[in-house]
Parts: sequence; structure tokens; C-alpha cells
Amino acid sequence: AKKQGSNTYQAYSCSNDISSYKKLLLEKDMRKAIVNEEFQLYYQPQVEAATGSIQGAEALIRWRHSEWGMVPPNEFIPLAEENHLIHHISDWVIRKTCAQLRQWKDAGYPLKPISINLSPLRLLKRGLVELIKEQLTFYQIPAELLEIEITESSLLKNDISVLKTLEELRNLGIKIAIDDFGTGYASLNYLHEFEADILKIDQIFIQNITSANKKDAAIVSAVIHLAKEIGMRIVAEGVEEKEQYDFLKERNCDLIQGYYFSKPVPLADYEEMLCRGLSI
Ligand code: C2E
Ligand code: CA
Ligand code: CA
Ligand code: CA
Repeated sequence: AKKQGSNTYQAYSCSNDISSYKKLLLEKDMRKAIVNEEFQLYYQPQVEAATGSIQGAEALIRWRHSEWGMVPPNEFIPLAEENHLIHHISDWVIRKTCAQLRQWKDAGYPLKPISINLSPLRLLKRGLVELIKEQLTFYQIPAELLEIEITESSLLKNDISVLKTLEELRNLGIKIAIDDFGTGYASLNYLHEFEADILKIDQIFIQNITSANKKDAAIVSAVIHLAKEIGMRIVAEGVEEKEQYDFLKERNCDLIQGYYFSKPVPLADYEEMLCRGLSI
């Protein structure tokens, strides 16, 4: 593996193409990472478009490798999905998030929902609903504070057990978000087949909403409209510029997530934002 300045771990090439030697090393270290507490959650605020106030955050996993520094999730999550460590990682994220919500409650922070990312593989494995129920009960956390982001590929399997699991989670009061909306195929089919609460429109559509070519602007406007018509909350991801924010606000997009407001930040920074309410 190659080390770069600023302690940033640099992939040889794209994430689908890591050398098998490096894969082997990563896999070995990943097994120890949970025990060694090398994983961390970063939080990226989600802001109400109309007011600019914080409405919650997405938890994004970070791996601080002892030698290589930060290993990006796009690199180790796919690997964890291959070697089945994803189940341990997912369960760690669930436990950590519930424990964190409890801590905020005890410390008197304003309580806002946290959304976590769950791999389709974890949704297929048994025991998910039980684990979440157990954690919510143990920490005495209302289910409304936990949101689960799934990608369209979770539903791609069209596995009846996945649909059932999601239904059970919703019945507990947990909100389900469809992540990266628009990038899978047959997106509309999922809306048709499954009741979700939140639609997260992918950043690739946001990038060009203010460009001269009005195509992406039209797509985003239509998706916002669609979400409202079917009673879903809509979140725009990857909002980096004021012009993009203005566009989305004008079209009544519910929530904004992106570098324009904040990058994903470590716990302490997010806590500070929670206190301030982060209003731009
Ligand atoms: P995602 O769920 O679509 O998360 C959004 C990604 O976009 C994050 O990358 C975030 O840092 C980045 N992002 C947010 N705002 C902006 C922006 O304004 N501009 C740009 N260019 N990027 C922005 P990150 O944290 O590197 O995560 C990458 C992916 O890794 C996530 O994509 C998600 O699929 C996966 N991931 C992260 N944490 C977890 C986890 O705990 N479990 C699982 N299963 N997957 C995770
Ligand atoms: Ca996500
Ligand atoms: Ca996303
Ligand atoms: Ca993504």
C-alpha cells in the first residue's frame, strides 16, 4: 500500500480494482478493526431547506487504519460485503448509533434523527429486526430517531424476506429512506412495490441543476414533485453551492445534505452544530 501526505490512504486505482494483496491485508486488519475500535462514525447534517436549521444527520462510517490512515468506505465496504464482515460492521453501526442517541439524550442535546446505511446483505440476514428492537429498548430510544438508508440494490433482489424485514422495521416506527435514488434501474418500480418514508435523490442529479442545459433541473423538479405526491420526504444529496440550494428551496425540497452546509464531521463537531442549530 502507498502512503500519501496528510495521512490519507491512497487507493491504487478505483475501488473495484484493488490488488489482491492489498485486499488480503485489508481483510485481515478489518477483522481486528472492530475490537481495536478503529471504526468511527462521522455525521453529516441534514438541513431543512426552508429554514436552514438542522433536522438530523446521516452517520457515515470511517476507518482509521493504524498504518494507512483513513480508508474510505467505498473501498472497504465492498470488501466487507465479499468476506461477510459487513454483518459485524452493520451491527456495530446500529449499536453505536443507539448508544450515541442515548448519550445525547442524557446530555440534554436536542434529539434529532440519525440515519444509518445498511448493506443489502445485512437486510437479507436474520436477526436484524430483533437486534434493532433490543437496542432501542436497551437504550430507551424512540424508534422515530432511527432511520435506515437502503439502496435500490437492496430491493433489486426483490426478495420477499427483505420486503418483510423493511415492513417490520417500519411498523416499529423506524423510517426507511431510499438512498441514491435514480441511479439504480427500475427506480419507479420500487416506489410502486414498497412503502418508504424518505427519498434521497442522488448527487449526480444535483450537480447540474443550475447549468444551462435544463435537463437535470427538470428531472430534480419532477422527482421532488413525485415524492410530495406520494407522501414521501425528499432529501437532496451533494448540495455544494448556494445556487443549488436556492433552486431546491424554491421547489420545496424538504431536506438538504451536502458540503454547502457541512461535510461529514466527527462527533464533537456535530454536537457543536446540534447546539447551535446550524443556521446559515
Ligand atoms: P452514500 O450513502 O451515498 O453517502 C453519501 C456520500 O457522499 C458520503 O461519502 C458523503 O461524504 C458524500 N457527500 C456528502 N455531501 C457531498 C457533497 O456535497 N459533495 C460530494 N462530492 N460528496 C458529498 P462517504 O462518507 O465517503 O461514503 C461513501 C459511501 O459509503 C456511502 O455513500 C455509503 O454507500 C457507504 N457507507 C458509508 N458509511 C456506511 C455504513 O456505515 N454502512 C454501509 N453499509 N455503507 C456505508
Ligand atoms: Ca446514504
Ligand atoms: Ca446517497
Ligand atoms: Ca452513494
